[in-house]
Amino acid sequence: MKDRVFIGIGSNVGDSEENCIRSIKEMLKDGRLRFQGVSSLYRTAPVSTIPQDDFVNCAIFVSWAGSPLSLLEFLMSIENRMGRVSDGRKDSPRVIDLDILLFGNLVLQEHSLTIPHAELHKRRFAMVPCLEIDPQIIHPGLRRPLAKFLGKIDDQQSVERIRKISMDEIGL
Ligand code: AMP
Repeated sequence: MKDRVFIGIGSNVGDSEENCIRSIKEMLKDGRLRFQGVSSLYRTAPVSTIPQDDFVNCAIFVSWAGSPLSLLEFLMSIENRMGRVSDGRKDSPRVIDLDILLFGNLVLQEHSLTIPHAELHKRRFAMVPCLEIDPQIIHPGLRRPLAKFLGKIDDQQSVERIRKISMDEIGL
């Protein structure tokens, strides 16, 4: 079975736009993943107590022929390959961050994986790219349109659209 999945992508170390694009190309190399759509790139303020540069964020919409855990392992292997190093702190700067935001209508809470992503409905930088791809998304856990949660967010979470991602640059 193939599930419709939204993956959140972020970077704030090095060439962040290029890092986001490269991570998409890496994902598209795997036969289990089928591309459905991609958002624009956005410049976003870091949501962290650690001072750091702005992020570039985007999201892709794909189908995944495998389990949620196999997708998490796959995304972590790309993060590692792209040189992500953990300093053990939550919300620290990162070359690349790949999160499973939504996995069909699945609601899952396991030790290593929470779906929908626990922060999705609290973070403008995660919601805006998903809603650009599909404004009608319903949050399967909270059973409300995702768009409803945008209005509840602290305005300091600035999210500015940079540009569209062309199919050419991701090799499609
Ligand atoms: P982060 O620092 O945000 O990249 O957190 C990575 C960790 O979050 C991983 O070790 C995952 O086990 C855990 N995690 C829990 N839920 C998710 C999710 N929906 N997507 C990605 N990572 C998740």
